[in-house]
Amino acid sequence: MDVSRYLHILELQPARQPICEFCGNEIAEYTGTGACGFCEMFPSAAASEMHAATPDSIKQINSISDERWEEAEKLIEKLSAESASPGMQYALSQFYFRRSNQLYYGIDYNLHGYMKENSDKREASWVLLGKAKGLMYKTIKLCNDQIAKSSTQEALYTRFTAEMSLQRHRDAKATLDLLAGIKSNDEVSLYSNMVYYSTLGSKKIATKFMESTISSQPNTFYYLARHLAKYGNTRGAGTVLGKFMERSRMPKAYHLLQKIKAVEGASEIS
Ligand SMILES: [Zn+2]
Repeated sequence: MDVSRYLHILELQPARQPICEFCGNEIAEYTGTGACGFCEMFPSAAASEMHAATPDSIKQINSISDERWEEAEKLIEKLSAESASPGMQYALSQFYFRRSNQLYYGIDYNLHGYMKENSDKREASWVLLGKAKGLMYKTIKLCNDQIAKSSTQEALYTRFTAEMSLQRHRDAKATLDLLAGIKSNDEVSLYSNMVYYSTLGSKKIATKFMESTISSQPNTFYYLARHLAKYGNTRGAGTVLGKFMERSRMPKAYHLLQKIKAVEGASEIS
């Protein structure tokens, strides 16, 4: 896969982007069918209606700065208790995941002595990761309730995303098979396959699926970076991820970047 050939695709994104109805972040899209660059949900509203479809409390969560996290967390808890939307629960889990990463990787290892502050941060980070996972399980439960009534593509896709995030790969494959039986949006189906096979497929199969979505789904660049890192090309992975993160605030991308930095740091030392 020729990485440089694809990087210019990222530059083609429109300057103004619609807002995701689930997480309130801007969606990088070329075709109107793209997955959100923050929560990876596929909006159900048309691009022109997304602002109206996005709850005010989600917009509020996004407007709160990181220093005032406690305020954001209260809103997340309230919204999670009120909403029956699995996509919303999953999107909310990503706010917890993001904050958990911030605390974990923001740890100051230069602090000497007792390092109480560091251990507090680490503990808070684990608590938030637990909350993120709790919302992913809630997502799956709500999807199951919907699927018991009718197997919609949205419910299956959302369950698949939560299962992948929880690394329940066997369940995710079963959901992927169910998704294949539903033909309503080929972009969703293609994207799900790319996510699954770029994670668990052979190098050849992973490449095939990434090439099939790279022009229409910017998030493919995150999976490409992870793929490159997996096969030892951390420099290429860093380049791709850096470009991608100029356009996306995906919490998983931030997490991957820290992992790549750690590997590069380790190889500099040895
Ligand atoms: Zn979103």
